[in-house]
Amino acid sequence: MISLDDLVSAQDRLIACPQCDALHLVEDLTETESASCARCGTLLIAPRARSFLHVVALSFTAMILMVGAVFFPFLKISTKGLSHDSSVFGAAMTFSDGLLAPLSLAVLLMIVALPVLRFTALIYTLWPLANGRAPWPQAARAFRLAEATLPWSMAEIFVIGTAVALVKVAGLATVSLGPAFWAFCALIIVVALKNSFMSKWTIWNAISQPR
Ligand SMILES: [Zn+2]
Repeated sequence: MISLDDLVSAQDRLIACPQCDALHLVEDLTETESASCARCGTLLIAPRARSFLHVVALSFTAMILMVGAVFFPFLKISTKGLSHDSSVFGAAMTFSDGLLAPLSLAVLLMIVALPVLRFTALIYTLWPLANGRAPWPQAARAFRLAEATLPWSMAEIFVIGTAVALVKVAGLATVSLGPAFWAFCALIIVVALKNSFMSKWTIWNAISQPR
């Protein structure tokens, strides 16, 4: 008969794939080995220090790209000899008074503030771990915050939305894309790369049992 203690210890050794929910039994891996889901190939366990360093480096890259994406000109619209260009920050500020103020606040929050908060929380959590030191105080809370803000970070959705709107506007005026648009595109790639290096299981494990 299986005792409750056996069940609890077995539960500690189970890992569910974040993509397809397949359950796997955790094996002891060396510092350089990684584990992927047997069914869909999603990364389950990443080699500790190296993957943490990748995530920290890519989070820094994302923060720098974010500055360009927000403050550089995003779009230039010209028609009949008149032209106007605007950055994301400028566009949000245009609506900052009056009825549309909550909208501009929501835009700045979801496109800028939440992703920056997420990158900062990830760097805070992983910087000491990547350097082989014990996690900083409140690391668990910082990582939980980074996970909680994930569904609300909408930089990628913003770029797709803009691309759709551009197709509509292109018939009425000449539209050219500024450097900020390309910074957003690079940001999407950097964030996708960062996610491919990140294993939540490895990070939680490192926070709870620092070596
Ligand atoms: Zn899977």
